[in-house]
Amino acid sequence: SQVYLNGDYMAPEEAKISPMDRGFLFGDGIYEVIPAYHGKMLGFNAHIERMQQGLAAIEIALDYDVEQWREICETLLSTNPGPNQGIYLHVSRGTDSKRNHAYPSGVAPTVFAFCFTLPGEPSCDADKASSYEVSLEQDRRWQRCNIKSTALLGNVMHYQSGARAGNKETILFNALGEITEASSSNVFIVKEGVIATPPLDTQILPGITRWLILQIVHTHSELRIEERVITKDELLDADEVWITSATKEVGPVLKVDGKQIGQGRPGPMWQRVQSLFSQHKFDY
Ligand code: PMP
Repeated sequence: SQVYLNGDYMAPEEAKISPMDRGFLFGDGIYEVIPAYHGKMLGFNAHIERMQQGLAAIEIALDYDVEQWREICETLLSTNPGPNQGIYLHVSRGTDSKRNHAYPSGVAPTVFAFCFTLPGEPSCDADKASSYEVSLEQDRRWQRCNIKSTALLGNVMHYQSGARAGNKETILFNALGEITEASSSNVFIVKEGVIATPPLDTQILPGITRWLILQIVHTHSELRIEERVITKDELLDADEVWITSATKEVGPVLKVDGKQIGQGRPGPMWQRVQSLFSQHKFDY
């Protein structure tokens, strides 16, 4: 298996980056994760577009176009065995000679990418699907969560506090008691047949899975979906709660802080939307 670093493909142990890299010293970079099943990437254009927007937001000038990214991803997929792969892409501001906060000039960004094995495509079967018990706590991350920064300490600490309580994810709410997202997922609820998810703003990452769900559900006029503020009380009182991400797709949440959601099993709307997602996820 091979990884990509700054224009070359090599064995993972050959890939070397200086400790003076700003990705290492400051977490000064942008990343993406793109799933691929049987060589087909899911949401490729949307993932690359989000990365380009993140790079522009932090003023990293990298001249890779979409086709260059496609070639890197396809080359990595071809050198990594197995039908289910995640592709990790990472761009840092680069390696400077000094540790200065100021953005350096004349420094080339560091570009690193590798594949990792995914367990397989998420199931649409309630008995086989991965389901989630989650923690709920106040969001203590920064105020630019729309940027997919490699600086993930806030997310890591939130995830870990859920893990300590025996949970697999942590859903977050802001100081007003409004749901933002989870440590590595977006959040949806279902109440009386209506699907809802928090609106895009600087408190959340614009998830590609979230976007795909909105596109797919909008083509089914019998399904109702709203982008609106959701309070933590509404979440606890919902018929269904989902966490979504590129690798989880639509992940059913069965318990929040130990409290059962709905019937305590993946719900009928989850079944409908995860099935539609499975059928249409490569259409975009
Ligand atoms: N929010 C956060 C904080 C995340 O890390 C992720 C995973 N990248 C998501 C939401 C979901 O985004 P996506 O659907 O693009 O994987």
